[in-house]
Amino acid sequence: MITPSPSIEALLYHAQKEGILPITSRCNMGCIFCSNAYNPPGCEIFNIPPRSAEEIEDTILWLGASRGPVVIGESVTRINEGEPLTHPEFAEILKLVRKYYPHRPIKVTTNCSLLDRELIALLSDLEVELLVSLNTVGHRERVMRDPEPERTLKNVSALGGKVSFEGSIVALPFITGWEDIRETGRFLKESGAKLIRLLSPGFSSRHPLASYLTPGIWTEIREFSKELARELKLPILSEPPEIKDLSARVEEVLPGSPARRAHLRSGDVILRVAGLEVFSRKEAFELARDRENPKISYERDGVLYDTTLTKEKYESPGFIMYEDLDPEEWFSWERKSGIRRGRNVLILTSSLAKPVIEKALEARGLSARVEEVPSLFFGGNIQAGGLLTVRDFVERYREVTSDGFRPEVVTLPARAFDPWGRDLRGEHYKAFMEETGCPVVISG
Ligand code: SF4
Repeated sequence: MITPSPSIEALLYHAQKEGILPITSRCNMGCIFCSNAYNPPGCEIFNIPPRSAEEIEDTILWLGASRGPVVIGESVTRINEGEPLTHPEFAEILKLVRKYYPHRPIKVTTNCSLLDRELIALLSDLEVELLVSLNTVGHRERVMRDPEPERTLKNVSALGGKVSFEGSIVALPFITGWEDIRETGRFLKESGAKLIRLLSPGFSSRHPLASYLTPGIWTEIREFSKELARELKLPILSEPPEIKDLSARVEEVLPGSPARRAHLRSGDVILRVAGLEVFSRKEAFELARDRENPKISYERDGVLYDTTLTKEKYESPGFIMYEDLDPEEWFSWERKSGIRRGRNVLILTSSLAKPVIEKALEARGLSARVEEVPSLFFGGNIQAGGLLTVRDFVERYREVTSDGFRPEVVTLPARAFDPWGRDLRGEHYKAFMEETGCPVVISG
Protein backbone atom coordinates (compact mmCIF):
# COMPACT_ATOMS: atom_id res chain seq x y z
CA MET A 1 0.00 0.00 0.00
CA ILE A 2 1.23 3.50 -0.83
CA THR A 3 0.88 5.96 2.03
CA PRO A 4 -0.57 9.42 1.44
CA SER A 5 1.81 12.11 0.23
CA PRO A 6 1.39 15.68 -1.01
CA SER A 7 0.99 14.31 -4.52
CA ILE A 8 -1.96 12.18 -3.40
CA GLU A 9 -3.51 15.25 -1.81
CA ALA A 10 -3.16 16.95 -5.17
CA LEU A 11 -4.87 14.01 -6.83
CA LEU A 12 -7.70 14.39 -4.35
CA TYR A 13 -8.07 17.92 -5.65
CA HIS A 14 -8.43 16.48 -9.13
CA ALA A 15 -11.08 14.09 -7.83
CA GLN A 16 -13.04 17.02 -6.50
CA LYS A 17 -13.50 18.31 -10.04
CA GLU A 18 -16.00 15.49 -10.36
CA GLY A 19 -17.53 16.16 -6.92
CA ILE A 20 -16.10 12.89 -5.58
CA LEU A 21 -14.95 12.85 -1.96
CA PRO A 22 -12.42 10.04 -1.35
CA ILE A 23 -12.52 8.74 2.25
CA THR A 24 -10.88 5.29 2.32
CA SER A 25 -9.68 2.42 0.12
CA ARG A 26 -10.58 -0.26 2.69
CA CYS A 27 -13.09 -2.82 1.56
CA ASN A 28 -14.88 -5.67 3.34
CA MET A 29 -15.64 -7.81 0.27
CA GLY A 30 -13.57 -9.59 -2.36
CA CYS A 31 -15.47 -9.23 -5.63
CA ILE A 32 -14.25 -11.49 -8.39
CA PHE A 33 -14.80 -8.66 -10.88
CA CYS A 34 -12.77 -6.12 -8.87
CA SER A 35 -9.96 -4.61 -10.93
CA ASN A 36 -7.82 -3.37 -8.04
CA ALA A 37 -5.43 -6.34 -8.00
CA TYR A 38 -5.02 -6.63 -11.77
CA ASN A 39 -3.64 -3.32 -12.93
CA PRO A 40 -0.54 -3.64 -15.11
CA PRO A 41 2.84 -3.04 -13.43
CA GLY A 42 3.85 0.61 -13.41
CA CYS A 43 0.27 1.81 -13.03
CA GLU A 44 0.18 4.77 -10.64
CA ILE A 45 -2.86 3.85 -8.53
CA PHE A 46 -3.15 4.94 -4.91
CA ASN A 47 -4.72 3.18 -1.96
CA ILE A 48 -5.53 5.45 0.94
CA PRO A 49 -6.11 4.39 4.56
CA PRO A 50 -9.21 5.89 6.25
CA ARG A 51 -8.65 9.66 6.22
CA SER A 52 -9.48 11.49 9.46
CA ALA A 53 -12.65 13.55 9.70
CA GLU A 54 -10.48 16.71 10.07
CA GLU A 55 -8.57 15.92 6.90
CA ILE A 56 -11.82 15.18 5.08
CA GLU A 57 -13.34 18.45 6.32
CA ASP A 58 -10.55 20.32 4.51
CA THR A 59 -11.35 18.44 1.31
CA ILE A 60 -15.09 19.06 1.70
CA LEU A 61 -14.45 22.79 1.47
CA TRP A 62 -13.02 22.29 -2.04
CA LEU A 63 -16.16 20.58 -3.30
CA GLY A 64 -17.93 23.88 -3.78
CA ALA A 65 -17.20 24.44 -7.45
CA SER A 66 -19.77 22.06 -8.87
CA ARG A 67 -23.55 22.22 -8.51
CA GLY A 68 -23.82 18.46 -8.92
CA PRO A 69 -23.99 15.92 -6.14
CA VAL A 70 -21.26 15.18 -3.60
CA VAL A 71 -20.33 11.56 -4.28
CA ILE A 72 -18.79 9.21 -1.71
CA GLY A 73 -17.66 5.64 -2.36
CA GLU A 74 -16.74 5.92 -6.06
CA SER A 75 -13.20 5.36 -7.36
CA VAL A 76 -11.63 7.99 -9.56
CA THR A 77 -8.98 7.07 -12.07
CA ARG A 78 -5.98 7.11 -9.73
CA ILE A 79 -7.50 6.55 -6.30
CA ASN A 80 -9.05 3.24 -5.31
CA GLU A 81 -12.06 3.83 -3.14
CA GLY A 82 -13.30 0.98 -0.95
CA GLU A 83 -16.50 0.46 1.02
CA PRO A 84 -17.27 3.83 2.68
CA LEU A 85 -19.17 2.28 5.59
CA THR A 86 -15.93 0.66 6.82
CA HIS A 87 -14.74 4.18 7.71
CA PRO A 88 -14.96 4.49 11.52
CA GLU A 89 -16.23 8.09 11.25
CA PHE A 90 -18.61 7.59 8.35
CA ALA A 91 -21.62 9.10 10.16
CA GLU A 92 -19.58 12.17 11.18
CA ILE A 93 -18.39 12.65 7.61
CA LEU A 94 -21.95 12.64 6.31
CA LYS A 95 -22.98 15.22 8.89
CA LEU A 96 -20.05 17.43 7.89
CA VAL A 97 -20.95 17.26 4.20
CA ARG A 98 -24.56 18.16 4.98
CA LYS A 99 -23.42 21.02 7.25
CA TYR A 100 -21.40 22.61 4.43
CA TYR A 101 -23.85 21.77 1.64
CA PRO A 102 -27.37 21.93 3.09
CA HIS A 103 -29.09 21.71 -0.30
CA ARG A 104 -26.74 19.69 -2.46
CA PRO A 105 -27.53 16.02 -3.19
CA ILE A 106 -25.23 13.58 -1.37
CA LYS A 107 -24.78 10.19 -3.05
CA VAL A 108 -23.05 7.23 -1.42
CA THR A 109 -22.10 4.03 -3.20
CA THR A 110 -22.18 1.10 -0.80
CA ASN A 111 -22.58 -2.67 -0.70
CA CYS A 112 -24.97 -2.20 2.28
CA SER A 113 -23.42 -5.05 4.31
CA LEU A 114 -22.63 -2.71 7.25
CA LEU A 115 -25.92 -0.81 7.38
CA ASP A 116 -27.94 -0.80 10.59
CA ARG A 117 -31.14 0.81 11.80
CA GLU A 118 -29.36 3.82 13.28
CA LEU A 119 -27.45 4.53 10.10
CA ILE A 120 -30.57 4.14 7.95
CA ALA A 121 -32.30 6.74 10.17
CA LEU A 122 -29.34 9.11 9.72
CA LEU A 123 -29.29 8.64 5.94
CA SER A 124 -32.98 9.41 5.89
CA ASP A 125 -32.62 12.53 8.10
CA LEU A 126 -29.74 13.90 6.01
CA GLU A 127 -31.52 12.99 2.75
CA VAL A 128 -28.56 10.98 1.53
CA GLU A 129 -29.17 8.91 -1.59
CA LEU A 130 -27.53 5.51 -2.04
CA LEU A 131 -26.21 3.60 -5.00
CA VAL A 132 -26.51 0.03 -3.76
CA SER A 133 -23.84 -2.09 -5.35
CA LEU A 134 -25.72 -5.39 -5.06
CA ASN A 135 -24.57 -7.34 -8.15
CA THR A 136 -26.21 -10.66 -7.28
CA VAL A 137 -28.78 -12.16 -4.92
CA GLY A 138 -28.04 -15.83 -5.50
CA HIS A 139 -24.24 -16.02 -5.77
CA ARG A 140 -23.03 -13.57 -3.15
CA GLU A 141 -20.37 -15.77 -1.55
CA ARG A 142 -18.89 -16.74 -4.89
CA VAL A 143 -19.10 -13.37 -6.65
CA MET A 144 -18.45 -10.95 -3.76
CA ARG A 145 -17.19 -13.18 -0.95
CA ASP A 146 -19.99 -11.72 1.16
CA PRO A 147 -19.68 -13.50 4.53
CA GLU A 148 -23.31 -12.73 5.49
CA PRO A 149 -25.44 -12.60 2.33
CA GLU A 150 -28.76 -12.78 4.17
CA ARG A 151 -27.88 -9.88 6.41
CA THR A 152 -26.88 -7.74 3.42
CA LEU A 153 -30.12 -8.52 1.59
CA LYS A 154 -32.12 -7.71 4.74
CA ASN A 155 -30.34 -4.36 4.98
CA VAL A 156 -31.26 -3.53 1.39
CA SER A 157 -34.92 -4.45 2.01
CA ALA A 158 -34.92 -2.18 5.09
CA LEU A 159 -34.12 0.87 2.93
CA GLY A 160 -37.53 0.83 1.21
CA GLY A 161 -39.61 3.92 1.93
CA LYS A 162 -36.88 5.44 4.12
CA VAL A 163 -33.87 6.09 1.90
CA SER A 164 -33.95 6.95 -1.78
CA PHE A 165 -31.68 4.56 -3.69
CA GLU A 166 -30.57 3.17 -7.04
CA GLY A 167 -29.24 -0.35 -7.46
CA SER A 168 -26.31 -1.50 -9.52
CA ILE A 169 -25.49 -4.90 -10.96
CA VAL A 170 -22.19 -5.82 -12.61
CA ALA A 171 -23.57 -8.27 -15.16
CA LEU A 172 -21.61 -11.53 -15.18
CA PRO A 173 -23.96 -13.87 -17.06
CA PHE A 174 -21.10 -16.34 -17.65
CA ILE A 175 -20.80 -16.77 -13.84
CA THR A 176 -24.28 -16.20 -12.39
CA GLY A 177 -26.50 -16.92 -15.40
CA TRP A 178 -29.06 -14.42 -16.79
CA GLU A 179 -31.73 -15.63 -14.37
CA ASP A 180 -29.79 -14.42 -11.35
CA ILE A 181 -29.46 -10.97 -12.95
CA ARG A 182 -33.22 -10.96 -13.46
CA GLU A 183 -33.82 -12.05 -9.83
CA THR A 184 -31.43 -9.36 -8.58
CA GLY A 185 -33.35 -6.75 -10.57
CA ARG A 186 -36.65 -7.99 -9.12
CA PHE A 187 -35.25 -7.90 -5.60
CA LEU A 188 -34.00 -4.33 -6.05
CA LYS A 189 -37.39 -3.23 -7.35
CA GLU A 190 -39.27 -4.91 -4.48
CA SER A 191 -36.86 -3.25 -2.03
CA GLY A 192 -37.74 0.21 -3.41
CA ALA A 193 -34.95 1.01 -5.90
CA LYS A 194 -36.00 3.89 -8.14
CA LEU A 195 -33.54 2.91 -10.90
CA ILE A 196 -31.13 0.12 -11.76
CA ARG A 197 -27.75 0.48 -13.43
CA LEU A 198 -26.69 -2.63 -15.31
CA LEU A 199 -22.93 -2.50 -15.79
CA SER A 200 -21.10 -4.36 -18.53
CA PRO A 201 -17.86 -5.89 -17.26
CA GLY A 202 -14.51 -4.40 -18.31
CA PHE A 203 -11.36 -6.39 -17.61
CA SER A 204 -7.68 -5.81 -18.34
CA SER A 205 -5.89 -8.71 -20.05
CA ARG A 206 -4.35 -9.66 -16.66
CA HIS A 207 -7.73 -10.21 -15.03
CA PRO A 208 -8.66 -13.90 -14.60
CA LEU A 209 -12.18 -13.24 -15.94
CA ALA A 210 -10.88 -11.65 -19.18
CA SER A 211 -11.02 -15.05 -20.89
CA TYR A 212 -14.82 -15.13 -20.40
CA LEU A 213 -15.36 -11.98 -22.45
CA THR A 214 -16.88 -12.43 -25.87
CA PRO A 215 -17.00 -9.70 -28.55
CA GLY A 216 -20.80 -9.47 -28.27
CA ILE A 217 -21.14 -9.49 -24.50
CA TRP A 218 -21.85 -5.75 -24.12
CA THR A 219 -24.52 -5.89 -26.83
CA GLU A 220 -26.16 -8.90 -25.14
CA ILE A 221 -26.21 -7.06 -21.82
CA ARG A 222 -27.71 -3.93 -23.41
CA GLU A 223 -30.46 -6.02 -25.01
CA PHE A 224 -31.11 -7.82 -21.74
CA SER A 225 -31.34 -4.50 -19.94
CA LYS A 226 -34.14 -3.31 -22.26
CA GLU A 227 -36.04 -6.56 -21.78
CA LEU A 228 -35.68 -6.35 -17.99
CA ALA A 229 -36.84 -2.71 -17.93
CA ARG A 230 -40.00 -3.75 -19.79
CA GLU A 231 -40.61 -6.66 -17.44
CA LEU A 232 -39.99 -4.73 -14.22
CA LYS A 233 -41.50 -1.46 -15.46
CA LEU A 234 -38.54 0.26 -13.83
CA PRO A 235 -35.90 2.57 -15.35
CA ILE A 236 -32.78 0.53 -16.16
CA LEU A 237 -29.64 2.15 -17.54
CA SER A 238 -27.05 0.09 -19.33
CA GLU A 239 -23.45 1.25 -18.84
CA PRO A 240 -21.25 2.08 -20.59
CA PRO A 241 -23.88 3.49 -22.91
CA GLU A 242 -23.70 3.14 -26.64
CA ILE A 243 -24.22 6.76 -27.64
CA LYS A 244 -23.48 7.89 -31.15
CA ASP A 245 -24.73 11.48 -31.20
CA LEU A 246 -25.39 14.58 -29.08
CA SER A 247 -29.22 14.41 -29.17
CA ALA A 248 -30.52 15.29 -25.71
CA ARG A 249 -32.54 12.09 -25.55
CA VAL A 250 -34.34 11.31 -22.31
CA GLU A 251 -33.40 7.75 -21.33
CA GLU A 252 -35.62 7.45 -18.30
CA VAL A 253 -37.94 9.56 -16.16
CA LEU A 254 -37.97 9.05 -12.40
CA PRO A 255 -41.32 8.44 -10.71
CA GLY A 256 -42.68 11.46 -8.82
CA SER A 257 -40.12 13.82 -10.38
CA PRO A 258 -40.67 17.25 -12.04
CA ALA A 259 -40.10 15.59 -15.44
CA ARG A 260 -42.75 12.95 -14.72
CA ARG A 261 -45.26 15.61 -13.63
CA ALA A 262 -44.52 17.49 -16.86
CA HIS A 263 -45.31 14.28 -18.84
CA LEU A 264 -41.83 13.86 -20.32
CA ARG A 265 -41.03 10.27 -21.16
CA SER A 266 -38.27 7.99 -22.36
CA GLY A 267 -37.32 8.72 -25.99
CA ASP A 268 -38.25 12.43 -25.94
CA VAL A 269 -35.50 14.64 -27.37
CA ILE A 270 -35.01 17.99 -25.65
CA LEU A 271 -34.26 20.81 -28.11
CA ARG A 272 -34.44 23.94 -25.93
CA VAL A 273 -34.35 24.72 -22.23
CA ALA A 274 -35.64 28.14 -21.13
CA GLY A 275 -35.52 29.20 -24.79
CA LEU A 276 -31.85 28.25 -25.20
CA GLU A 277 -30.95 25.75 -27.89
CA VAL A 278 -28.99 22.84 -26.39
CA PHE A 279 -25.68 21.57 -27.78
CA SER A 280 -25.56 18.24 -25.94
CA ARG A 281 -27.21 16.02 -23.34
CA LYS A 282 -24.98 17.42 -20.64
CA GLU A 283 -26.00 20.98 -21.45
CA ALA A 284 -29.72 20.10 -21.55
CA PHE A 285 -29.52 18.44 -18.16
CA GLU A 286 -27.52 21.21 -16.50
CA LEU A 287 -29.64 24.03 -17.93
CA ALA A 288 -32.77 22.30 -16.63
CA ARG A 289 -31.18 21.52 -13.26
CA ASP A 290 -29.87 25.05 -12.65
CA ARG A 291 -33.16 26.88 -13.34
CA GLU A 292 -36.39 27.40 -11.51
CA ASN A 293 -39.45 26.21 -13.46
CA PRO A 294 -37.63 25.93 -16.83
CA LYS A 295 -39.66 25.75 -20.04
CA ILE A 296 -38.68 22.69 -22.08
CA SER A 297 -39.20 22.31 -25.83
CA TYR A 298 -38.92 18.73 -27.02
CA GLU A 299 -39.63 16.43 -29.91
CA ARG A 300 -41.65 13.22 -29.71
CA ASP A 301 -42.32 11.10 -32.80
CA GLY A 302 -41.54 14.04 -35.07
CA VAL A 303 -43.93 16.45 -33.30
CA LEU A 304 -42.73 19.46 -31.27
CA TYR A 305 -44.09 20.10 -27.78
CA ASP A 306 -43.52 22.55 -24.93
CA THR A 307 -43.82 21.87 -21.23
CA THR A 308 -42.64 23.42 -17.97
CA LEU A 309 -40.81 21.62 -15.19
CA THR A 310 -42.20 22.76 -11.86
CA LYS A 311 -39.08 22.70 -9.73
CA GLU A 312 -36.69 24.73 -7.65
CA LYS A 313 -33.36 26.10 -8.86
CA TYR A 314 -30.67 23.36 -8.73
CA GLU A 315 -33.26 20.64 -8.05
CA SER A 316 -32.79 17.60 -10.27
CA PRO A 317 -35.20 17.73 -13.23
CA GLY A 318 -35.87 14.01 -12.77
CA PHE A 319 -35.05 12.91 -16.32
CA ILE A 320 -32.01 10.76 -16.91
CA MET A 321 -29.59 11.18 -19.79
CA TYR A 322 -26.26 9.60 -20.55
CA GLU A 323 -23.22 11.84 -20.12
CA ASP A 324 -21.69 13.25 -23.33
CA LEU A 325 -19.91 16.55 -24.11
CA ASP A 326 -19.53 19.60 -21.94
CA PRO A 327 -20.18 22.60 -24.25
CA GLU A 328 -17.76 24.91 -22.41
CA GLU A 329 -14.96 22.36 -22.77
CA TRP A 330 -15.77 21.78 -26.42
CA PHE A 331 -15.78 25.49 -27.32
CA SER A 332 -12.55 26.00 -25.42
CA TRP A 333 -11.00 23.11 -27.40
CA GLU A 334 -12.16 24.73 -30.66
CA ARG A 335 -10.23 27.91 -29.69
CA LYS A 336 -7.11 26.10 -28.44
CA SER A 337 -6.79 23.67 -31.35
CA GLY A 338 -7.06 26.36 -34.02
CA ILE A 339 -9.53 24.19 -35.92
CA ARG A 340 -11.68 27.22 -36.75
CA ARG A 341 -8.65 28.83 -38.38
CA GLY A 342 -8.38 25.81 -40.65
CA ARG A 343 -5.61 23.91 -38.85
CA ASN A 344 -5.24 20.27 -39.77
CA VAL A 345 -6.24 18.48 -36.53
CA LEU A 346 -5.94 14.82 -35.56
CA ILE A 347 -8.13 13.81 -32.60
CA LEU A 348 -6.96 10.68 -30.78
CA THR A 349 -9.65 9.37 -28.46
CA SER A 350 -11.37 6.29 -27.03
CA SER A 351 -13.62 4.10 -29.14
CA LEU A 352 -16.55 5.09 -26.90
CA ALA A 353 -16.06 8.83 -27.49
CA LYS A 354 -15.26 8.72 -31.23
CA PRO A 355 -18.83 8.75 -32.65
CA VAL A 356 -19.90 11.57 -30.32
CA ILE A 357 -16.89 13.70 -31.30
CA GLU A 358 -17.62 13.12 -34.99
CA LYS A 359 -21.20 14.30 -34.46
CA ALA A 360 -20.01 17.40 -32.58
CA LEU A 361 -17.68 18.29 -35.47
CA GLU A 362 -20.54 17.83 -37.92
CA ALA A 363 -22.90 19.96 -35.82
CA ARG A 364 -20.32 22.77 -35.68
CA GLY A 365 -19.47 22.54 -39.38
CA LEU A 366 -15.85 21.51 -38.66
CA SER A 367 -13.61 18.90 -40.12
CA ALA A 368 -10.88 16.84 -38.42
CA ARG A 369 -9.59 13.30 -38.52
CA VAL A 370 -10.81 11.30 -35.49
CA GLU A 371 -9.06 8.04 -34.62
CA GLU A 372 -9.81 5.61 -31.81
CA VAL A 373 -6.93 4.42 -29.66
CA PRO A 374 -6.89 0.87 -28.26
CA SER A 375 -5.62 0.43 -24.71
CA LEU A 376 -2.41 -1.57 -25.20
CA PHE A 377 -1.36 -0.87 -21.60
CA PHE A 378 -4.44 -2.49 -20.01
CA GLY A 379 -5.50 -4.76 -22.84
CA GLY A 380 -8.61 -6.93 -22.42
CA ASN A 381 -11.80 -5.03 -23.29
CA ILE A 382 -10.80 -1.77 -21.58
CA GLN A 383 -12.09 1.15 -23.64
CA ALA A 384 -12.26 4.11 -21.26
CA GLY A 385 -10.41 7.25 -22.38
CA GLY A 386 -9.21 7.83 -18.80
CA LEU A 387 -7.16 4.62 -18.96
CA LEU A 388 -5.23 5.47 -22.13
CA THR A 389 -1.52 6.27 -21.80
CA VAL A 390 1.09 8.28 -23.71
CA ARG A 391 2.49 4.99 -25.11
CA ASP A 392 -0.97 4.07 -26.46
CA PHE A 393 -1.27 7.49 -28.14
CA VAL A 394 2.25 7.36 -29.64
CA GLU A 395 1.64 3.87 -31.03
CA ARG A 396 -1.63 4.91 -32.65
CA TYR A 397 -0.11 8.14 -34.02
CA ARG A 398 2.60 6.10 -35.75
CA GLU A 399 0.00 3.84 -37.37
CA VAL A 400 -2.18 6.75 -38.49
CA THR A 401 0.73 8.71 -39.99
CA SER A 402 2.45 5.73 -41.59
CA ASP A 403 0.85 6.66 -44.94
CA GLY A 404 2.37 10.16 -44.91
CA PHE A 405 -0.55 11.97 -43.23
CA ARG A 406 0.86 14.90 -41.16
CA PRO A 407 -1.47 16.75 -38.78
CA GLU A 408 -0.53 20.25 -37.57
CA VAL A 409 -1.84 19.52 -34.10
CA VAL A 410 -2.96 16.42 -32.16
CA THR A 411 -5.71 16.41 -29.53
CA LEU A 412 -5.48 14.01 -26.57
CA PRO A 413 -8.34 13.51 -24.06
CA ALA A 414 -7.95 15.39 -20.76
CA ARG A 415 -9.26 12.50 -18.71
CA ALA A 416 -6.13 10.48 -19.53
CA PHE A 417 -3.99 12.97 -17.57
CA ASP A 418 -3.72 14.38 -14.07
CA PRO A 419 -3.72 18.17 -13.55
CA TRP A 420 0.06 18.19 -14.16
CA GLY A 421 -0.27 16.41 -17.50
CA ARG A 422 0.93 12.95 -16.37
CA ASP A 423 -0.73 9.71 -17.50
CA LEU A 424 -1.43 6.63 -15.36
CA ARG A 425 2.19 5.53 -15.73
CA GLY A 426 3.46 8.94 -14.63
CA GLU A 427 4.57 9.90 -18.15
CA HIS A 428 3.97 13.51 -19.22
CA TYR A 429 2.11 14.22 -22.44
CA LYS A 430 5.07 16.34 -23.56
CA ALA A 431 6.81 13.01 -24.22
CA PHE A 432 4.28 12.56 -27.03
CA MET A 433 5.35 15.90 -28.57
CA GLU A 434 9.04 15.04 -28.22
CA GLU A 435 8.63 11.66 -29.92
CA THR A 436 6.25 12.67 -32.68
CA GLY A 437 7.34 16.30 -33.18
CA CYS A 438 3.65 17.25 -33.31
CA PRO A 439 2.11 19.93 -31.03
CA VAL A 440 -0.53 18.66 -28.61
CA VAL A 441 -3.75 20.20 -27.31
CA ILE A 442 -5.47 18.58 -24.35
CA SER A 443 -9.25 18.56 -24.82
CA GLY A 444 -11.65 19.24 -21.95
S1 SF4 B 1 -16.77 -3.75 -3.17
FE1 SF4 B 1 -15.64 -2.59 -4.76
S2 SF4 B 1 -13.56 -2.32 -3.95
FE2 SF4 B 1 -14.54 -3.94 -2.74
S3 SF4 B 1 -13.91 -5.83 -3.73
FE3 SF4 B 1 -15.90 -5.25 -4.59
S4 SF4 B 1 -15.42 -4.06 -6.43
FE4 SF4 B 1 -13.53 -4.17 -5.20
